[in-house]
Amino acid sequence: MAKISEYDRFGEEGLSKEEYAKRQDYVLKSCKCAGCPTFVKGDNPAGAYCFPLIGTSEAIRREKDCICETCPIYEEYELTHTFYCTRCSQLCQTYKMELGGGHE
Ligand code: SF4
Ligand code: SF4
Repeated sequence: MAKISEYDRFGEEGLSKEEYAKRQDYVLKSCKCAGCPTFVKGDNPAGAYCFPLIGTSEAIRREKDCICETCPIYEEYELTHTFYCTRCSQLCQTYKMELGGGHE
């Protein structure tokens, strides 16, 4: 089984509580979800679904399109998945793939 640090694109492992909150805030500020056709206004959390521990959306029920690939966070942290709002965070989706037998 791979270590979390190998998949931890946001480098959150080892961050202090304060640093973690700061990084989460940074991701939320750059997040493009509010302009996405899938997004539901008033959702809580209001984006940054790619970030670990933010959680999936409580309001989004239907996947329409995902614009994560156009987001600066996506590029900066070299993310690889989409539909974080419904399918869970980058780390979580990577783990699911790994546990789902997608590795050699
Ligand atoms: S990659 Fe997607 S979920 Fe993450 S901050 Fe950007 S738009 Fe939001
Ligand atoms: S995670 Fe993707 S699909 Fe979901 S609201 Fe954000 S941009 Fe849209």
